[in-house]
Amino acid sequence: MKQDRRDFIKTSALFAGAALVPNSDIISKPFIKGTKKMKLTYRPYTLELRHVFTIASNSRSTTPVVLTEIEYDGLIGYGEASMPPYLGESHETVLKFLSKVDLSKYDNIFDLERILSDVDAIEPGNPAAKASIDIALHDLIGKIMGQPWYNIWGLDKNKTPYTSFTIGIDTPEVVRQKTKEAGEYKILKVKLGRETDKEMIESIRSVTNTPITVDVNQGWKDKHFALDMIHWLNERKVLFIEQPMPKTQIDDLAWLTENSPLPIIGDEGVQRLSDIVKAHKVYSGINIKLMKCTGMREAYKMIILARSLGMKVMLGCMTETSCAISAASQLSPLVDWADLDGALLISNDVYDGTKVINGKVTLNNRPGIGIKKI
Ligand code: MG
Repeated sequence: MKQDRRDFIKTSALFAGAALVPNSDIISKPFIKGTKKMKLTYRPYTLELRHVFTIASNSRSTTPVVLTEIEYDGLIGYGEASMPPYLGESHETVLKFLSKVDLSKYDNIFDLERILSDVDAIEPGNPAAKASIDIALHDLIGKIMGQPWYNIWGLDKNKTPYTSFTIGIDTPEVVRQKTKEAGEYKILKVKLGRETDKEMIESIRSVTNTPITVDVNQGWKDKHFALDMIHWLNERKVLFIEQPMPKTQIDDLAWLTENSPLPIIGDEGVQRLSDIVKAHKVYSGINIKLMKCTGMREAYKMIILARSLGMKVMLGCMTETSCAISAASQLSPLVDWADLDGALLISNDVYDGTKVINGKVTLNNRPGIGIKKI
């Protein structure tokens, strides 16, 4: 009894304290239809990468992004578009697209299906620009509801996957060094698709036995060569192969998937919801990225559809701030594998959000997508 009373006093004091101290993590406001307008603002920003990043097709040391904010009734939802150059969007295209978005005309901001369909219909393409609206709207709605999105979706925050950590193509010495620095991660991701493929894997295996996922970024052109490589990789603790061949070589990819001892995951070959049914017979699974599929709402639908077809699901990213990474992380309890290391690869993040702790995607209790400005 005494114990109960002490607990009661302690709990009461905590609540009293919480009431006195403003806490941006606990925001819950009633929604009154039609009395306020949403206001969209945005600015270009350039992410600095910690290391020059090389994949099969190019190298770079910066990534352009656009940071969006949607303000409504004193709350701000944050969003982001990230535009690695090879995907065709840029500061210029995203700013132009966003200048055509008018959110002030919507009375019910919960009407995500209609608002996002309208945004999608402004122009074809522009998936990152569209994602920057989708993410900011989700963040805003989550803040109005006072709940993180994993809760709104009914997901268990403890069921998040480990994230892989990417080791870019480099000299054996640098690869060994990067691998040692990545000791915290339970899965490494390796970019292959050049003549140094075996050397890359052997460099990593000379310092660690951590499981590896391989991303070829369409780099292998011959299906028999690809299958031989996959057999070789299968003996070296590799979990799956991402986009081994060009996305246009559909018959070769389907053959490879049928004969491969490892799952074949489509990335470049699968962009949006409408691509999944076609991808069903071509790949064992898909890599979903918010910047490819226009954001969280479509990503959720893609996961459900892919699962219903018995496909594996991976959640990936571009180099992004903690904004887009935290948005994707809300979905991560639903997927087999996560590759959400984008914010770890940059040196000038502007948000605090989802963390990677001992290699695991670790969600926080903040509402919306779980971020705050640094
Ligand atoms: Mg990939």
